[in-house]
Amino acid sequence: MLKKLFQSFRPPIRGQHHMRTTPEVINSAQHSLQRSQFSRHAVSIVERLQNAGYQAYLVGGCVRDQLLGITPKDFDVATSATPEQIRGEFRNARIIGRRFKLVHVHFGRDIIEVATFRANHPEAEEEQVESHRSSRNESGRILRDNVYGTLEEDAQRRDFTINALYYDPVSERILDFANGVHDIRNRLIRLIGDPVQRYQEDPVRMLRAVRFAAKLDFGIEKHTVQPIRELASMLREIPAARLFEESLKLFLSGQAALTFEMLVDLHLFDPLFPASAQALEDQPTYTHTLISQALSNTDLRVKQGKPVTPAFLFAALLWPALPARVLRLQSQGMPPIPAMNEAAHQLIAEQCQRIAVPKRFTLPIREIWDMQERLPRRSGKRADLLLDNPRFRAGYDFLLLRESAGEQTDELGQWWTDYQDANDSERRDMIRELGSRDEGTGAAPRKRKRSSSASKRKRSDEFQD
Ligand code: ATP
Ligand code: MG
Repeated sequence: MLKKLFQSFRPPIRGQHHMRTTPEVINSAQHSLQRSQFSRHAVSIVERLQNAGYQAYLVGGCVRDQLLGITPKDFDVATSATPEQIRGEFRNARIIGRRFKLVHVHFGRDIIEVATFRANHPEAEEEQVESHRSSRNESGRILRDNVYGTLEEDAQRRDFTINALYYDPVSERILDFANGVHDIRNRLIRLIGDPVQRYQEDPVRMLRAVRFAAKLDFGIEKHTVQPIRELASMLREIPAARLFEESLKLFLSGQAALTFEMLVDLHLFDPLFPASAQALEDQPTYTHTLISQALSNTDLRVKQGKPVTPAFLFAALLWPALPARVLRLQSQGMPPIPAMNEAAHQLIAEQCQRIAVPKRFTLPIREIWDMQERLPRRSGKRADLLLDNPRFRAGYDFLLLRESAGEQTDELGQWWTDYQDANDSERRDMIRELGSRDEGTGAAPRKRKRSSSASKRKRSDEFQD
């Protein structure tokens, strides 16, 4: 009794929430969740597994989001049953995954992911897997984590306290091993366990901390945020394909502008986008304005339920890094247009070393950039041809973005806005007016000098060859 009392008054060490071996059980009178809020398919899976004698819970994002009044993206189930045992219970179940096995239970189009409890026990694993000497690399990063475990171990290997809540829809109780409900109430992102060690095991957790903080409008707890700046460069070790998935989640969350600020502040932007980070240093105002503007537009589109293309996002994130490269190549004697093409090619290739942007997105990035060279050249049939180009809209939006960041384009964006609104005869007039302006007859009420338009024409001609 005394010992129990003493324990309950012991202050938490370094502010960490230590794992309980027995969870705090929060019954239905003490929380707001209701079974009916959860996918009935997910609930029926839990019931079925429990009836077959296994432990089974709804877990992770869906419990967290429901407690916050957010509609969950998906419903995950965690269970003591192995993948084979799970499959044995359901006709509509498929085992997926190589690194660790999961089961997808299909209900028409709805898929519920069912995972066996897992543990983070590299030592135990070493004994089991003879062919691999170690499951961690020199810096402590976990390379494989496919050991099955108990419910307690499953809670312990999760990243944040708010993601380690288990809801039993049968008893309508929440099992809380890491004071996750407390952190939800206080709107805090807090790592389970020792933060440095948890980031070393998986540096992507630094990005996840930022993502959840931005998406949920939470703060990051002091000890959880403190090591990030120092460990940020560990992201360089993460496979580029995984970082592509993560970066999409970061920038398509509906809070991309805020996420960007946090990434820069926590030095996480540099390992993800090294060239853009350099541009941010060299030309802070312009680069910051262009990227923030692009991300705010993206956030608006996400909130309106409009489609967002990753190509446009990456085109904007990398654009400020282009001029320095173009200039460098030009100083080595390359003419402007080939220098532009080569710089674009190099920049994308380098970026793909960090974040593996698939071909289906890198091609449109180039097209959006190429469009920036073509939008000023409108004479003859060119304007109408451009308007018919499937990439016109993205190219035009990108032009407006550049202008909003202060790039001087001689009101090209407004011209294209007017041109799209104009009827056929007005369009002919607009093109004719351009022609006379280019010839320097003085007919057009523009204040551009002849020399600059002449040099621009020359550039355009070079581009055509
Ligand atoms: P979202 O709504 O964005 O999907 P989520 O919490 O469901 O949020 P997922 O990436 O789908 O996030 O992961 C599901 C759960 O798996 C998390 O809630 C967390 O408990 C655990 N998890 C995911 N990634 C990690 C990681 N890198 N380290 C530890 N636990 C993780
Ligand atoms: Mg999820």
